[in-house]
Amino acid sequence: MSAELVTGLQCRLCGKRYPKEALNFCTEDFGPLEVTYDYEAAARTLTRSALAARPRTMWRYHELLPIDGEPTVGQHVGGTPLIRADRLARVLGVRELYLKNDAVNHPSLSFKDRVVAVALSKAVELGFQTVGCASTGNLAGSVAANAAAAGLEAYVLIPDGLEQGKVLGATIYGARVIAVQGNYDHVNRLCSQIAFRYGWGFVNVNLRPYYAEGSKSMGFEIAEDLGWRAPDHVVAPMAGGSLIGKIHKAFQEFERLDLLEAPVRTRMFGAQATGCNPISATVKSGASKVKPIRHPDTIAKSLAIGDPADGYFASKLIGETGGWSEDVDDETIVDAMTLLAETEGIWAETAGGVTLAVAIKLIEQGKIDRDGSTVLCITGNGLKTQEALIGRLAKPVVIEPTLEAFENLVESHALWPMVSAAGAGVLVGSSA
Ligand SMILES: *Cc1c(COP(=O)(O)O)cnc(C)c1O
Ligand SMILES: [Zn+2]
Repeated sequence: MSAELVTGLQCRLCGKRYPKEALNFCTEDFGPLEVTYDYEAAARTLTRSALAARPRTMWRYHELLPIDGEPTVGQHVGGTPLIRADRLARVLGVRELYLKNDAVNHPSLSFKDRVVAVALSKAVELGFQTVGCASTGNLAGSVAANAAAAGLEAYVLIPDGLEQGKVLGATIYGARVIAVQGNYDHVNRLCSQIAFRYGWGFVNVNLRPYYAEGSKSMGFEIAEDLGWRAPDHVVAPMAGGSLIGKIHKAFQEFERLDLLEAPVRTRMFGAQATGCNPISATVKSGASKVKPIRHPDTIAKSLAIGDPADGYFASKLIGETGGWSEDVDDETIVDAMTLLAETEGIWAETAGGVTLAVAIKLIEQGKIDRDGSTVLCITGNGLKTQEALIGRLAKPVVIEPTLEAFENLVESHALWPMVSAAGAGVLVGSSA
């Protein structure tokens, strides 16, 4: 890693340049800042043959990540499986389907470890000893875990009423977990004030330009694991609307470095829950401005951001790539979580249900074509959102510890209730 590759920050609206510091908006127009790189220098060392010798973590693409020295936090993040999902593909009636499974990302079981590894490595470079975040759940656990391992003090702010797995999954690491009475947008506003007042490094506030770049590693891994190919379609869940744009940016950067054949034509599809759909509503109505949702209400709490920071850029990108966006209700989210588990053996959190359910809807609408290659981004683990399933799946059948009791059960017709989502009308009319 060398300091010259990261050249600075630049406003996404007016293009004004800034040095590498903890700053997230342009002082001229409040536009978001983005990291800039020396791509010619990056192309000299980031080659297919160089990559072959590097470890399978997100840092194998370090030339395109905004750290000046070696990463000091989250060295083992990334390198999650890209799974060819033929059983699910048959149910959906598509030819070529893949799951990028960040439900098993190290260490905190969500894609947020990618952004946190970059943000906290940068925080260390910039000299912060106290870090924090405004979280819808997964970021809390990732900041808490990675800060603990790096010996940083962490303040984690969440909306009151998050799932137990998300709360315990932050507290266990010794972070100071603070539940704010209000929704994510209240938490976020408060964190901006705290970062300013105390001078701490908030990963998604004053460190946001660096943080957001970590999401590109998901796109880099998808392209490399597809055999240096960008897929025809990507379906990504959207909260603040950052991840979807960074996956696409990853493909574009690989194209620029001649790692992918030009032109990349991936169409980007964004997934939201109907109970908090500011970005999908914008795409569907053709509006140019994102209208905030005042009172988000969905079981997909990790995606419940009513006023998404990158909503404008996400809806613009979706339009420019020829993609689309949809949203689904809570019932449909749970059905899709079950379908994913039953067909591919993956227990995703509610956001994974959103992604799959939206993909099904888009296939039915003909927006995703059945003959193309499609990647679904599975971004979080089902163990953390158990509340969504309690009372909705069959309970274990209790028997006495005798063979007779088992025989009676198996040979009776009162077998386990059939709750199979694959058999319960989720099936999409198949051409395969
Ligand atoms: C944060 C999060 C997202 C979306 O991230 P954005 O970049 O804010 O759009 C998706 N899935 C899960 C599980 C998340 O925690
Ligand atoms: Zn500007």
